[in-house]
Amino acid sequence: MNDIVGQADGQKSPRYAGLSTFARLPRIEDVPNYDVSVVGIPFDAGVTFRPGARFGPSAIREASRLLRPYNPALDSRPFADAQVVDAGDIPCNPFDIPQAMDEIQQGLDGLMAGGRPVVSLGGDHTIALPALRAASAHHGPLALVHFDAHLDTWDTYFGAPYTHGTPFRRASEEGLIRKDRSVHAGIRGSLYDQKDLLDDESLGFTVINARDFDRIGTQGIVERVQARVGDAPLYVSIDIDVLDPAFAPATGTPESGGMTSRELLGVIRSLRDNCIVAADIVEVSPAYDHAAITAVAAANLAYEFISIMSAQQGHRSTH
Ligand code: MN
Ligand code: MN
Repeated sequence: MNDIVGQADGQKSPRYAGLSTFARLPRIEDVPNYDVSVVGIPFDAGVTFRPGARFGPSAIREASRLLRPYNPALDSRPFADAQVVDAGDIPCNPFDIPQAMDEIQQGLDGLMAGGRPVVSLGGDHTIALPALRAASAHHGPLALVHFDAHLDTWDTYFGAPYTHGTPFRRASEEGLIRKDRSVHAGIRGSLYDQKDLLDDESLGFTVINARDFDRIGTQGIVERVQARVGDAPLYVSIDIDVLDPAFAPATGTPESGGMTSRELLGVIRSLRDNCIVAADIVEVSPAYDHAAITAVAAANLAYEFISIMSAQQGHRSTH
């Protein structure tokens, strides 16, 4: 493909000018076809503590203006290797969670047509369930790498089965993810009971705790993740609260003692040869942000996903 439309030219229009699309990419309706899409999912009716992640997509887009065409860490040109588009936001019901999940699943299903990878910008973590439903419909049961301070495998909360604390229990029950290929990373903080951990284990997950970083370092974490997921089609879900509040203050349920942004970017880049079919970055709640610290971290994480997906899609379309 040599008719790829990339970013608005930062030499002709300054990076702070113009309407916000992710990384100043074309909108999906501006190009005839696409290989990789970025989409906003402004839904936060499933939160249990501080709300506001419905404003995540627009804050991340605004923070993504400084993303430039060349990614030196991966030696890639993500917006030239393949056609990447901003697909806008998926409109979803702010009051009816099951209906919103159906709308999110349908929206993502359309974007994934032909197996195309999608990066979703949340929204709260509830959106991971309809995203996994859509992705597994295209690719079969998926390996899951879930970065989060929290397990998100509760059963119910105040009787509600679909919240931001339950998506991965539901995904395991629905057979959307592979029990032998799924892992949580960055887990920390207080729990209601030790039973939370035992329940999680019985659902098939392996846990990499945040405190494990001190002992085995980023490289050790990478090796454990790779050993777990193998070469299975992979879904990567990042709850931004996996980062320490120093690196991501703007989130609904902050926990002390998390990863640095550099550590997380490094672990994501280590997945460059994995088949990432979809990814999400959730729980950015901009009202709690300072100097866009959290939104900048989220935008840069999305850039790494796009870089990996774009290189793989470009390779596919030219070979
Ligand atoms: Mn969390
Ligand atoms: Mn979460």
